[in-house]
Amino acid sequence: MIFTSLGASEDIGASCHYIKIDGTGILLDAGADPEKEGAESVPDLQRIQLNPDWPVDHVIVTHAHHDHLGSLPVVVKMFPHARVHMSGATRSLADILLPASARLQRRKVEEGSTVVPPLFAEDDVEACSYLYQSHALETEFDLSGLKGRFSISGELYDAGHVLGSVGVHISWIEDGKERTLFFTGDTGLRNQTIIPGASYPDDTVDVLLLESTLGADPDSESFDRKGEEKKLGKSMARVLKRGGVVLMPVFALGRAQEMLALIDRFKNRGLIDENIPVYTAGMMRAISDTYDKERLTTPRLNEEFLVYGVKQRRLPRTQGGLNEMLKKPCILAVGSGMMFERTISNKIAQALVENEKNGIFLVGYAREDSPGALLADARAEKKGTMVTLAKSKGPQAANCDVERFRFSGHSNRRDLLVLVDLLQPKTIVLVHGEKAAKEWMVDNIKFFYPEIDVQMPMQNDVLEV
Ligand SMILES: [Zn+2]
Ligand SMILES: [Zn+2]
Repeated sequence: MIFTSLGASEDIGASCHYIKIDGTGILLDAGADPEKEGAESVPDLQRIQLNPDWPVDHVIVTHAHHDHLGSLPVVVKMFPHARVHMSGATRSLADILLPASARLQRRKVEEGSTVVPPLFAEDDVEACSYLYQSHALETEFDLSGLKGRFSISGELYDAGHVLGSVGVHISWIEDGKERTLFFTGDTGLRNQTIIPGASYPDDTVDVLLLESTLGADPDSESFDRKGEEKKLGKSMARVLKRGGVVLMPVFALGRAQEMLALIDRFKNRGLIDENIPVYTAGMMRAISDTYDKERLTTPRLNEEFLVYGVKQRRLPRTQGGLNEMLKKPCILAVGSGMMFERTISNKIAQALVENEKNGIFLVGYAREDSPGALLADARAEKKGTMVTLAKSKGPQAANCDVERFRFSGHSNRRDLLVLVDLLQPKTIVLVHGEKAAKEWMVDNIKFFYPEIDVQMPMQNDVLEV
């Protein structure tokens, strides 16, 4: 088997890998780099396209996060005969997220905030969506290719990360022997609030393609979800009791719904007043609807729970409405998660930050240079430290409470080692992590499992596995 990464290899970037099993070519994920625009955000697909020996027969998308799905329309255009596989829920989410991505790209050009032309238009997305084949979990489907001699089959396993996320098990017979590969995608071993932890194949595998997002994050090992939950509940109650507003910048897919479930829990337990209004906005509302629609067909901790069972109002669209809303205690769960400029969470944060009554609670990953992280750092220094959330607004005093909480949908690095122990692979290929993260994983796998061949390929490396 041949393996090569088409996305970034030194950071998280876009998830996209190519494997060739005999004459059959399979792309694993079709992500786009969220920190880049246009053609730059797309993985290096041309390397495959220009190589006549590297066909693409199938594409498998593990989940609907942009860094795994965002380039799919480009991939479909480039390899029109490839069959595209994903879970049913990911398919539903793709139908929301890809047109939204097309609209966003167009809008940025119209507003003049970029000169990079859109990668695809809404029409392109609609035209290719009928090609996607969805598969139930743990059910075999065919992955054989036109020029391949082996019959290859695939099976999706719940990845415990966000709605619809899967790991992919691929098996084939070679020289009379069964060979197997498992690609984790983004994987979470532990239960969240809505989504249960991942399930994995019972049997060992030959090759494990392992994500390593949290490999360089020692804190993630010691954090415990219950403790974070308690801390968040207390902090929210404190702010609301003194008449403040709570802002939770969240990612639209995953963290938003998990946080709404937590707010529901806090209200049911009487930790916060049942009548405190909760406001949501934008795409997360359509995604929440999909969470609810798919609740009986996707793994859940509690089948009864509905995201829209949590009473929520749509964020007012007018400035007057927003001002009115911010006068009374309320909870806002809005994007973007890192509070980037020109997003709702950034705009609201500008209105809240100077008043010490309020609280801004970061519940997801925030890149070091993002407004969310800058705010947290400034406030940690001392109350009143100046911080610039938006250039248009200029520096503001960070007076409100700012706290960070850890609610990752990724396995911590010890859990990734548990997975290694479970699947006992002969070869591990580390993907989807920063260099330091992969290095920690290599060192520890080598220490605990010296018999395993562990690789951390660079972007252009071609591995023979
Ligand atoms: Zn993800
Ligand atoms: Zn990812």
